[in-house]
Amino acid sequence: MASAPAFPPNSSPRRFWDANSLQTRLTVGVVLAALLGLGGVTGWMAWRMRQILLESHTEKAETIAQRFEEDVSLYQEMMPTPEALQQVVDYRTTPDTALWIQSPDDQLLAASETLSIGSWQTSGLSAELLDLNADNLLAIRSIQDWTLVICVSPLIIDGQMVGTLFIADDITANQASFQRMTLSLVAVTAVVVTLLAIAIAYYVQRSLRPLRQLNRLASTVTAETLCAHQLQLEAAPTEVQELAASYNLMLERLSRAWAQQKSFVNNFSHELRTPLTLVQGYLQSTLRRCHTLTDPQREGLEIATTEAERTIRMLQELLNLARIDSGQMTFNLQPTQLKEVVMGAADQADPGGDRIRVEICSAPTVNCDRSRLHEALSELLDNAIKYAQGERPIQMRLDQSGEWAIIEIQDHGRGIPWHQQADIFEPFYRVDEDRARTTGGTGLGLTLVRAFVEGMRGQIALRSIPEQGTTFTISLPV
Ligand code: ADP
Repeated sequence: MASAPAFPPNSSPRRFWDANSLQTRLTVGVVLAALLGLGGVTGWMAWRMRQILLESHTEKAETIAQRFEEDVSLYQEMMPTPEALQQVVDYRTTPDTALWIQSPDDQLLAASETLSIGSWQTSGLSAELLDLNADNLLAIRSIQDWTLVICVSPLIIDGQMVGTLFIADDITANQASFQRMTLSLVAVTAVVVTLLAIAIAYYVQRSLRPLRQLNRLASTVTAETLCAHQLQLEAAPTEVQELAASYNLMLERLSRAWAQQKSFVNNFSHELRTPLTLVQGYLQSTLRRCHTLTDPQREGLEIATTEAERTIRMLQELLNLARIDSGQMTFNLQPTQLKEVVMGAADQADPGGDRIRVEICSAPTVNCDRSRLHEALSELLDNAIKYAQGERPIQMRLDQSGEWAIIEIQDHGRGIPWHQQADIFEPFYRVDEDRARTTGGTGLGLTLVRAFVEGMRGQIALRSIPEQGTTFTISLPV
């Protein structure tokens, strides 16, 4: 049993994430710029702070090395040189700094207490430091878990080479706090960039809202609603407001052109229909009354009558369409027994009764315009007969599905190609121009059928398989 057809939505739903959208591109662009900017500043700050830290420690080690000779000279006035060396070493030693002096033959001349007691000694750092062998060095070294600034310089007192002075400055704690600070900076940067990304995405989405509104409105505009779709976007950016103004102007012009076209078609059809009806009348009466016509003359007049009939029908259909478009067509909705209308249309289309087979599964009563429904069914049956010349009969079925009365007209003809099925209800659309012309079609029949059905709050659906047949289904609310 057929159910009421559902119409497809007129626009596809917006995807949650569209990599190609302006919103995504703007957001990604601004976030990348922010990431580069903030990341760059953070990186530079971290690098600069590390430089300052290292520079201050290396300067300290260098200063001790430079002043060492002066200090020893002062102490030398009071005591022998080996003791003076030890005194200066003790004087310059701090809990984080160790000094030691090695003679050219690798004898330890003086050393800080830091090297012989405490964690330096127990961890084996002292042993590794005392093994250091370099003539001239200023470097940052990582030994075990320690980070040290090491300064090695020759010690010359009173012009004599006494040995090598080693200074080791422990910067492990500073280094650790520097690393903690760098991590905090990175974390803060990440949080700031994330918040910035959310704020930017929201801002961009807000800024693009008028464009989306414009798009939504543009997608719902039809010829009938041209005038009703004026855009008002006061809060939108200037560029979008300009676009909306041009859009409104375009709609106005289109609406005027559309109204002119409709009134032209209306007047034109009206003016032509009367003289043509007269011509048709004269032709028919000549054919009826004049018995002296030769065969070619009769044939010519018959062709002229058929063409006049076809043109009058087309003009009538055009007038109907114009009336529907301008809302002038009224529908006289009355409770109607569908069975009677269906049987009536079938009888009229097939007086002999062998081409159409009617099946009444249910006999609903609906509120509809009897004569318009009759016209619509007759048009569908005429088409079925025209386009399905074959052995198999045309099936007409009346049924009810829930709240809908269903009328199906099914033929087993040539069908309609898949790619043309969407356009079949458009005015003047014909599947096969030659075939339509020989069958006397105008291309307006289905357009009117749809307009009539929709005017009665119903729906029409098409199911067609090429070379197998076509089924039109009219659904009317019960
Ligand atoms: P026409 O007056 O030319 O028949 P319609 O609007 O009634 O115009 O139909 C439009 C076109 O749809 C026709 O030209 C025809 O090709 C196609 N069509 C309509 N009904 C059928 C059918 N039952 N089977 C095959 N084609 C059909």
